[in-house]
Order: sequence, then structure tokens, then C-alpha cells
Amino acid sequence: MSHPHSQITSLTQLSLKDLSDGLQAGRFSVMEITDAWLARIEKFNPLLNSFITVLADGARTQAQQIDNQIRKGELTHTLAGVPYALKDLFCTDGVLTSCGSKMLHNFVAPYDAHVTTKLKQAGAVLLGKNNMDEFAMGSSNENSAYGVVRNPWNTEYVPGGSSGGGAAAVAARLAPFVLGTDTGGSIRQPASFCGITGIKPTYGRVSRFGMIAFASSLDQAGPMAVSAEDCAIALNVIAGFDERDSTSAQEPVGDYTASLNNSIEGLKIGLPKQFFAAGLDPDVATVIERGVKEFEALGAIIKEIDLPNSHMAVPVYYIIAPAEASSNLSRFDGVRFGHRCDNPKDLRDLYERSRWEGFGEEVKRRIMVGTYALSAGYYDAYYLKAQQVRRLIKQDFVEAFKQVDVIMGPAAPTTAFKIGEKVDDQVAMYLADLYTIPTSLAGLPGMSFPIGFDEHQLPVGMQLIGNYFQEARMLNIAHRYQQTTDWHLRVPAKFA
Ligand code: GLN
Repeated sequence: MSHPHSQITSLTQLSLKDLSDGLQAGRFSVMEITDAWLARIEKFNPLLNSFITVLADGARTQAQQIDNQIRKGELTHTLAGVPYALKDLFCTDGVLTSCGSKMLHNFVAPYDAHVTTKLKQAGAVLLGKNNMDEFAMGSSNENSAYGVVRNPWNTEYVPGGSSGGGAAAVAARLAPFVLGTDTGGSIRQPASFCGITGIKPTYGRVSRFGMIAFASSLDQAGPMAVSAEDCAIALNVIAGFDERDSTSAQEPVGDYTASLNNSIEGLKIGLPKQFFAAGLDPDVATVIERGVKEFEALGAIIKEIDLPNSHMAVPVYYIIAPAEASSNLSRFDGVRFGHRCDNPKDLRDLYERSRWEGFGEEVKRRIMVGTYALSAGYYDAYYLKAQQVRRLIKQDFVEAFKQVDVIMGPAAPTTAFKIGEKVDDQVAMYLADLYTIPTSLAGLPGMSFPIGFDEHQLPVGMQLIGNYFQEARMLNIAHRYQQTTDWHLRVPAKFA
């Protein structure tokens, strides 16, 4: 390594935007910054466990190529040479894509996900693949076959989930940005727990091609980074129509960075009264209420709104998501790819034992629940009913957006909890997504950005919910807030 420690630290303190500007201006090379981030991963990942795979050689090879292309003026994209990491459910050609599961411990993807292709074309440098809850099922990253991830703000605490590895990596500055996925809260809740910014775009905004499916009507990829500005730069690259995903939106994509500085004077913010009721930790409530006042001071108009059906969101989600998961996960049968048991007696034994051995407890639980909900005798009572209530929940938002421009509230009812604290209490764990799931069911975009700390010095995230395809406005609102505050710039002491 050719750099003194101080240099390494300073390169890894730069935001995505600063890295991009510095690279284009020739202030440092792609190889220098790639080495600096890899050195940090090497130093801190053993403590955090936020990466399943570190691609040190691959990243350096890519860095060398991109340095050449930048030098020749062939690559001028904003993300050219900027390092990043991917949640380990985005297929990455030639690289292990485990989905946090023993079932896929040997799955080397033979192709790239749409987002992987987009980032490769832009010249971003892939540092590695992030740890996650198995098949994206979880809120604490404790369901990974690759072990728990630790929260950089307090390593006895969970980072949230299921994109917990990526969130911890950004918080500890092991990557300037990462991509996560959010089915019921898996970008917003870990972003909240780790004190970073993350956005789940409108359902269909980012192609799901090459993303290992959990619940297809809900899954959506999005960026997690230090700031809204950095998320906007990353979203510019991954958003857009893709014919390989039948639910991909045709809606044109603008430049998410163009409106970042727009005024928020007169912005009408709705606060759902259901998001400030029982279940919300009083300490979190205090921080959120202070944040709301800060928006008022920035010129926003605050209005209480009603989402009368939101209390049914968690139960509805835990019918729909497992139902879709049970169907999606039926492809992992030990025959074509993934884990296969030793010496099967017959075909049935092969299926049963491969699935029994390959899937973890939470995944098995959901396959059972989902299969039950979809079975002939119960389909109408559970799945169909859940779909009807899902429609009511969506309608609540349609009504709310007639009165307000955006909706705000806590991203999660609590801050990060202790590792092990909720592993035996599924309902308590499921309630971690109390405020994120309604948005997911409605297919609306949602984000979380840091708004302060609780009494234990753990970060609190503000959730911002926009109307369909209003990502630019949401990023603008968070950016304006981040221009006047520095919560998003704080780095946990151990990783400063
Ligand atoms: N925590 C929720 C679950 O376990 C959401 C996960 C996600 O968004 N992938 O299903």
C-alpha cells in the first residue's frame, strides 16, 4: 500500500459526489481510492461482518481498466471509478450470489442483474457483496447463514435488515454507496438503524431482473449512501425501464440530481396520526417531533392525516409476502442449482432433505405459512382477503395525497435493538416494519434519512413517503434538510 494512513482515511471520508468530482478532475486515481476502501474493509469487516464476499482482485482489475478509460476520456460518467457494494441477492456474473442462504452457498451467478449491468457500464467499481438476512427475510440481519452483522454505532446491536450488511458498510464507511432491496422495509429500516440515507423507489422504477425474488409484487431495489445527494446520483444509473422485468415502469426517468436544491417553502407535509400512536418508542417520538419542527422552520406546512387501514398492513404483509415467497422459493429443489443433500434415497428424499438442510428457520416458517395461505381451502379466506385489504391501504394513501405533497413519520418504531433480543419473538421482530410496510403494500416510494440520536446514542431515521414516481421531490426534501444539518455526516467513533 503506497499511502500513509491519513491519506487512506481521508479518501474514504469523501462522499460519492466528492469521489466522483475528484476522479474526473484527476486529483486521485481509481486505483488509489479502490485500495483505500479495500484497506478499510480489510481492517473493519472482521468486526462488522458486513460483507459475504470481498472482491479485492476483481476491484483492482476493474480499477485499472477504468483508470485507463478515464485517462483516455472514454469514460466520463459520474459513477466512473466510484466503489460500491451489492446486497448478495443481485446476480453478479462469475461471483457467488448467496442470498444469505446455505441453499445458495455454491451459486455463482452466470449473468448480471439489470442493476449490476448498469453500474458496470457506468464504470463503478464493485468492492464486494453484502451480508443480508436469508432471502431478504428479516429485520435484524440475524437470519443470515453467514452470521450476524454488527451495528457500527454499537457493535452489540443489530444493524436492521434485511439489507443490514450494506447499511453497516455505509455507516462504517466501508463503501461510499451500496444497493439494497426493500420488500417491506429492508432499505429504510436498516438505514434508520445505521444512521444513513436510503431510498426505496416506486415499485417498478428499478428492474428486478437478476434480483433473487422474495415477494415479487413488493420487491424493489434502491441505493443506500451517506446523503440524499449520493442516493440521487446512484438512482440516476439504476432507474429506468427494462423489458426483462414485466412490472418495470415505462415512466420516463429524469435527472434526480437536477432538483436537489429546489425550495421546500410551502411544502405540505402530512403526519399520519397512526404513525405517532401506541407502539412508537417515546424517545424516537421526541427526535422525530423535533425533526418535524425543523422542516416547519424550513418553510414546510405540517398537517395531520389519517391512514385508517394502516393497522392492518403488518398482518396483510405476512400473508402476501410468505405466499409469494413460497411460490418463488419452490425453484430451490436441489436439482438444478443450489444445495443438494448427500446420497438421496429417491426424488422425494432429495427434495425434502435438500430444502430442509438448505433453508434456515425463518425461511421455512414463511414457506409453511405461504403454502397454507395459498392452499385450495384457505386461499379465499387469507390470500384473497389480504389482497382486498391491500387495496384499502393503497386507497388511504391516494386520499392522503389529495391533501399533502409528502408524508413523514418515523422509519421504525424503535432504534436498533440488541443482538439476540428479539430472535425468539417473531411478532416483535415483524413489528420493526410497522411504518414501512404500508408504503410497500401501496407500491409507493419511501426513504429514510438520519434525523438525530436517541438517549443511547443510536441513530433515528425519518421516513419520507412520496406519491408515485416522486423520488426527485423526496431526494430534494432530504437534501435541503441535509444542507442545514450534519446528522448524516456523523461517523461512529470506532470507525472515524
Ligand atoms: N422485515 C421484513 C421481512 O422480514 C421486510 C424484509 C424486506 O423488506 N426484505 O419480511
